[in-house]
Amino acid sequence: MSGFNSDANNQLILALSKGRIFEDTLPLLEAAGITVTENPETSRKLILATNDPNVRVLIVRATDVPTYVQHGAADFGVAGKDVLIEHGGEGLYQPVDLQIAQCRMSVAVKSGFDYEAAVRQGARLRVATKFTQTAREHFAAKGVHVDLIKLYGSMELAPLVGLSDAIVDLVSTGSTLRANNLVEVEEIMDISSRLVVNQAALKLKRARLQPIIEAFERASKARKQG
Ligand code: AMP
Repeated sequence: MSGFNSDANNQLILALSKGRIFEDTLPLLEAAGITVTENPETSRKLILATNDPNVRVLIVRATDVPTYVQHGAADFGVAGKDVLIEHGGEGLYQPVDLQIAQCRMSVAVKSGFDYEAAVRQGARLRVATKFTQTAREHFAAKGVHVDLIKLYGSMELAPLVGLSDAIVDLVSTGSTLRANNLVEVEEIMDISSRLVVNQAALKLKRARLQPIIEAFERASKARKQG
């Protein structure tokens, strides 16, 4: 430790996305003694205050959380494994699987499409997805030739209108697939959200970050067991 302890090293900035991750992170923050005092669903503010004047929360797109943390605009954040794989994880320390926002990444096709037969026959599949990195690795490992079509949302639409043969998307209850006449044909991996910490911040602000990391670790272990 350098012993350097300026005000700047006392300030902590956390990057979170609205919705599921924000909601599921609140109890973990509470376990670390941090209460977010503004609600991102009702406030238009992008920087939220907490009960600790030295801790602020940035509200960013889920896919942008690793970028803010990588570049040190935020000291730490919470991001899904799906998002971290696509980002690459550069400059990020990932100390805790928080066991929140759990779902799976799967391949789905239109009901009636014989995926197994297409794979067996070595057909070239058109796959629409937001998760091109994960999809590329998955199909390469299986030796399946694919043309990846990058989309930014509503992947479920692609097989219905002939844009693709299959999609790679996140599935939780399966009701979105069912509502769109799609079936899950292959699970690629389980997904959950992780705590990510800027590597430089971890060194410079260890005294402030370490207790939070430990509180998150304890709370997520309790969650796993509970
Ligand atoms: P479901 O209908 O419950 O299977 O949820 C699927 C829809 O919710 C898809 O559009 C997914 O992209 C999205 N989704 C489900 N779980 C997550 C998650 N943990 N993180 C982000 N998006 C999710």
